[in-house]
Amino acid sequence: GGTRELLLSRIRDVADYPKPGVLFKDITPLLADPSAFTALTDELAALCATHGATKIVGLEARGFILAAPVAVRAGLGFVPVRKAGKLPGATLRQAYELEYGTAEIEVHAEDLDAGDRVMVIDDVLATGGTAEASLELVRRAGAEVAGVAVLMELGFLAGRARLEPALRGAPLEAL
Ligand code: 5GP
Repeated sequence: GGTRELLLSRIRDVADYPKPGVLFKDITPLLADPSAFTALTDELAALCATHGATKIVGLEARGFILAAPVAVRAGLGFVPVRKAGKLPGATLRQAYELEYGTAEIEVHAEDLDAGDRVMVIDDVLATGGTAEASLELVRRAGAEVAGVAVLMELGFLAGRARLEPALRGAPLEAL
């Protein structure tokens, strides 16, 4: 429908960022447009309701920008998953493979528990490694996965296929 076209029209392709050969999808024009940002927030909040989410996890850093207003709109709590070393409290930590080397993400252990059904929100699903590791954290914390919702999926990187086993039947929604 019209929302998809509006959102697409507000994503800027930046060539050779952050390194030569990469075509980066820049969401800052979308964030700067209140109609587009509101439409995106509403769509993501509706998906949270559809899939019975009771808590929102946002992935650092652009995932925070999208997930926080969705949490407010949906009336749900927001939990940040951060790069390792940024959270002050007791955390669960998860390592995952990058193209070159590994990375680690963390969540405050006390922010998620067995009663939670979590929607994980990020801007872009690329290789799927970040989302896959976040699902590990959610489950290790004892919570259930309601799904993963992203603005955009870069189909040629096959993130959906990588993520599928970790989803265990939960939906991956890409607007
Ligand atoms: P993945 O772990 O799926 O390979 O990478 C996903 C993470 O990298 C997301 O947190 C996302 O913010 C970031 N990312 C990768 N490629 C792009 C891109 O082209 N545009 C934006 N905005 N983020 C990207």
